[in-house]
Amino acid sequence: MTPEEVHELVSRWAKELGVYPKRVRFQKMRHKWASASSKGTLTFSVDILELPYEVVEYIVVHELIHIKVGSPRHNRLFRALLSSYIPDWQALQRELISYSSPGGVQE
Ligand SMILES: [Zn+2]
Repeated sequence: MTPEEVHELVSRWAKELGVYPKRVRFQKMRHKWASASSKGTLTFSVDILELPYEVVEYIVVHELIHIKVGSPRHNRLFRALLSSYIPDWQALQRELISYSSPGGVQE
């Protein structure tokens, strides 16, 4: 997968979710696959480019929902939204953990 393809996933899902991340960047991350800042910056680990498409899509939607709810928590609202957009997210989360995750997708 290329960074351009990730950008494309972000644009498509941002529209779907009605959120507008201000910035999307890639960098080496030691303990996470991705993070979303309260100011709307999405940061992805360069390592996600090695993951299967549907897993990357899950990571993208996960981070965009953090921006949508304005919180880094995985509370009931967060999980309900995630389930409504990616019904099988729990399987994808397990798959993600199996890729010798640097710490899971926490934020
Ligand atoms: Zn999270």
